[in-house]
Amino acid sequence: MIDTRILEITAELAKAENIVIVPHKGPDGDAMGSTLGLLHFLKDKGHNATVIAPNDYPHFLKWLPGSDNVVIYESQKEKADELISEAQIVFTLDFNHLSRCGGMQDSLMASKAVFVMIDHHQEPSDYADYTYSDSTMSSTCEMVYKFIEKLRASKKITPEIATCLYTGIMTDTGSFRFASTSSDTHKTIADLIEKGANNAQIHNNIYDTNSETKLQLLGTALKNLKVNKELRTAYISLSQEELDKHNFKKGDTEGFVNYGLSLDGIIFAVIFIEKENEDLIKISFRSKGDFDVNKFARAHFEGGGHINAAGGRSNISLNDTIVRFNKILPEYSEQLKK
Ligand code: 5GP
Ligand code: MN
Repeated sequence: MIDTRILEITAELAKAENIVIVPHKGPDGDAMGSTLGLLHFLKDKGHNATVIAPNDYPHFLKWLPGSDNVVIYESQKEKADELISEAQIVFTLDFNHLSRCGGMQDSLMASKAVFVMIDHHQEPSDYADYTYSDSTMSSTCEMVYKFIEKLRASKKITPEIATCLYTGIMTDTGSFRFASTSSDTHKTIADLIEKGANNAQIHNNIYDTNSETKLQLLGTALKNLKVNKELRTAYISLSQEELDKHNFKKGDTEGFVNYGLSLDGIIFAVIFIEKENEDLIKISFRSKGDFDVNKFARAHFEGGGHINAAGGRSNISLNDTIVRFNKILPEYSEQLKK
C-alpha cells in the first residue's frame, strides 16, 4: 500500500517544514536506530526534524549520531508539546499502537499533522494517514532503508544514516541470527557497510561496553533461572532488591531473557523484572519456531509484540505473577511439548 502512495508522501514531504519522529516508550536499538536514521535523512533534505522519545533510553545507545539532540518527553514535556503542535508531519516508528508511546499519546492525538507509521509489529492499529507495516521485516531500521529506497534516495544514505540503521537491524535480529533475518536483510546490511557503517565498531559500542555491576546482575539472573523441561520453558526473575544491589541502570537487563533460549531444547523463555517505582512487573517473552509469544502476551499479560519476541506487564507481586504464569503454562502444553 505504501508503494502506491509514495508520490503522495513525497508531496507531503515537499510541503513540510517541521517534522517530529517518535519511537516507542522504552526505546531499544531498533527504535532509536530507525528514528535517528530517518532524522539524519530528513535533516539532510532540509527539514527541521526532531526525534522525541517518550522516555529515556539505555546509555549503550547514546553514542548513536544525533543522540545529543533527542528530546525526552518525560523530562521536557513543554518543549516536546510545542514541537508536536508545530509539526506538519509526525513519523511514528517501531510501534503499532499509539498507547505504546505512553504519556505522549494525548499530545499526538491532538496534533493535526499528517501521520506516517513505519513498523514491523503484528496487528497495526489504524491511526496513521500512511501506514507502512510489514511484520515479515527483521526490524523497523530495515524498513526505513526500504522507505528511503522507495523515495528513490538510496544515494543520500550517509555514514550517519548507515550507522543508525545498521545498529537497529543488528539489535533486533540478535546480530543477524533470528529467523526474521532474510537474505534481503544481509543485502541491506552489506550496503550499509558500503555506505559507511563501521560494523566492528558498532558491535563493540553495543555489546562490549558493559559495567562490572551489569555482569554481576546477569550472574544473579542466571542463578534465578528456572527450567520446565517437559514444557520446554525457562524463566528468570529479578526483584527490585536484586536490581538495587547491583546498581541497576536502564538497559542493564537487555538481552538477559535470551539466555533461557540458549538452553538445549528450550523454546520458550521469559524474564520477570520487578519495577517498584512503576508498581508493576515488566515481562519479556521470547520463543523459537511456531510458539507465538505475541498471542501469549496479549492473552494474559496486557502486552504484545511479534511471534518470537513480545513484552507485557503484571500488576500483582513478583511471586504471584510467577505463580500465575506457572498456572497458565499447562494450557499451552500441546504447543510446548515435543
Ligand atoms: P521487550 O521484551 O524487549 O520489551 O519487547 C519485545 C518486543 O515486544 C518488542 O518488539 C516490543 O516493541 C514489543 N513489546 C514489548 N512490550 C509490549 C507491550 O506492552 N505491548 C506491545 N504491543 N508490544 C510490546
Ligand atoms: Mn523493532
